[in-house]
Amino acid sequence: MTTATLDRTERLLRTGPDGPADPGLSTHLALHGPLAVPRRDDRDWSHAVWREMAASGLTGRGGGGFPAAAKWDAVTRSGRRPLVVVNAMEGEPASAKDRALLAWSPHLVLDGAEVVAALSGAREIVVCVADDRDSSARVVERALAERARAGGGRPVSVVRPPARYVTGEESALVSWLTRGDARPALRVDKSVPLQVRRRPVLLHNAETLAQVALIVRHGAAWFRELGTSEAPGSTLVTVSGAVRTPGVFEVELGTPVAELVARVDPTGPVAGILLGGYGGAWLDPAHASVAYAPGPLAAAGATLGVGIVVVLATSSCGIAETARIARYMAGESAGQCGPCVFGLPAMADDLELLAAGRGDPAVVGRLEQRCDAVMGRGACRHPDGVVRLVRSALTVFADDLRVHTAGHPCTGHAAPTVLRFPVAGASRAGAA
Ligand code: SF4
Repeated sequence: MTTATLDRTERLLRTGPDGPADPGLSTHLALHGPLAVPRRDDRDWSHAVWREMAASGLTGRGGGGFPAAAKWDAVTRSGRRPLVVVNAMEGEPASAKDRALLAWSPHLVLDGAEVVAALSGAREIVVCVADDRDSSARVVERALAERARAGGGRPVSVVRPPARYVTGEESALVSWLTRGDARPALRVDKSVPLQVRRRPVLLHNAETLAQVALIVRHGAAWFRELGTSEAPGSTLVTVSGAVRTPGVFEVELGTPVAELVARVDPTGPVAGILLGGYGGAWLDPAHASVAYAPGPLAAAGATLGVGIVVVLATSSCGIAETARIARYMAGESAGQCGPCVFGLPAMADDLELLAAGRGDPAVVGRLEQRCDAVMGRGACRHPDGVVRLVRSALTVFADDLRVHTAGHPCTGHAAPTVLRFPVAGASRAGAA
């Protein structure tokens, strides 16, 4: 898998003159310059940084898209010193961006965590790396050792929660940090900060923190030189599927999806584009001129999610691929909400029938009813993502569906999947 930048978008994945960056501290400082973070509370520094962050319009890059500065605001108002948590769990099987970012520039992520800790008065930072991502954990440990030798900084620990789809969800991760049990919690008011041992938690995705480290160095105006006024900056995207050059790319927000797909060289005519991840949505290639940014994607029924783009060729079957995702997602339920525990496997059953040409239009109607019954009924958004994906498949692959429900499945339904799924017991450490 390649890791590269597109056009002038060289920020997070900036390279040295001789190619890919050495993730060492000296190379990092040579590329990005020093970072001055006060050891003790410094109001002037905090106000200046706060202003730039708010002006930058940076939103979380972990899927929620929440404004980063608003998150800090809620925690600061609690009046207690928070725990800063770096979320590098990357539970989406089709995502490799956190892994690429840590391999490429771990110090940028750690710089961002230091900035957030200094801003919020936190005395401790925890980095969460899934227990099957040994190489990422090693890179972080090495980077921390280098920083310790250089002096300064707050205590940082690396913890290894279980590699499950839902473990990266904020409340599940906090539950694991508190009780060792990674189950999402029902949150009625998401503006109330989560807590670990009575400390409010400031939890950010690794990419969000790397963006923070750049904004502190270069300012909000620089950050906004890329992207759109509503969606400023660049973002990391993992592109895979029926393409000749899959990889992790840094792209300018607002880039047309069609342009993004063309750059990775599809292997054939495109039948659908999966955006956002396995809880995302299929996009009809006829609508691929849409800008890759939260607002335009939402208007097209899609989502940025965690920056995943999977290209499906016409030689594959969109119904069969959606059935595979639904089955995988059903298996990743945290097992505590009925609509998720029972609804997702039933939806996967229906999709498998339809993919095999053994489901008539009544099965489609039943599947639609199941979507209605499951939507919004879980403690977390895991089942909602599956519903969104299934509904988009029923629309984008409607022509295929008509043929399937007539008892004539396309030849693509038996083709090997182009999707990525974790192999039970296998480490993802070296997979890139
Ligand atoms: S909705 Fe599903 S994944 Fe989320 S908490 Fe409930 S059972 Fe777990």
